[in-house]
Amino acid sequence: MKKAIYPGSFDPVTLGHLDVIHRAAKMFDEVIICVLDNKAKTPLFSVDERVKMLKDVTKDIPGVIVDSYYGLLIDYADKVDAHVSIRGLRAVTDFEYELQIAQTNALLSHGRLDTIFLTTSMEYAYLSSSVVKEIASFHGDISPCVPKQIEDLVRKKFEGRAPHERIR
Ligand code: ADP
Repeated sequence: MKKAIYPGSFDPVTLGHLDVIHRAAKMFDEVIICVLDNKAKTPLFSVDERVKMLKDVTKDIPGVIVDSYYGLLIDYADKVDAHVSIRGLRAVTDFEYELQIAQTNALLSHGRLDTIFLTTSMEYAYLSSSVVKEIASFHGDISPCVPKQIEDLVRKKFEGRAPHERIR
């Protein structure tokens, strides 16, 4: 069985992430979306909230599972017996960082974990979770950026907050 992990923060899940998930689901029998609990970042949504949102927006995509993990991706990959990590590439600015992670994972896993990059679809090339949070912090329209079910959840997080109280 062809199995892949799609790791990330997904804080929150965007239409760009969803596009990658749809495309990956066509290539693999099973795609495990893994919310990595990164203590270095201050997230807008808790890990449980992010898992719940991802489950909701992917419930109709066959072969997609949502999980979370606190630790190294290579350890999670061993745990679920997966050998492919999927990452998205938007622009050259993503490249250096993604290359470093991919090579580190290959090194640490002694070649057991490989990375496949999916280039962004043109319409989502500008899109990131940070951009969504930036727009929402100014109470702007995030409907072109996130799945319908996610809009209100993001908006609620910024209710009663002054625009300058941003979260990255
Ligand atoms: P991380 O904090 O690990 O970068 P993100 O949730 O920001 O996690 O992103 C997860 C993955 O999805 C990354 O590989 C990122 O490059 C990719 N990604 C994010 N937004 C897009 C997009 N609009 N199009 C394609 N890939 C994307």
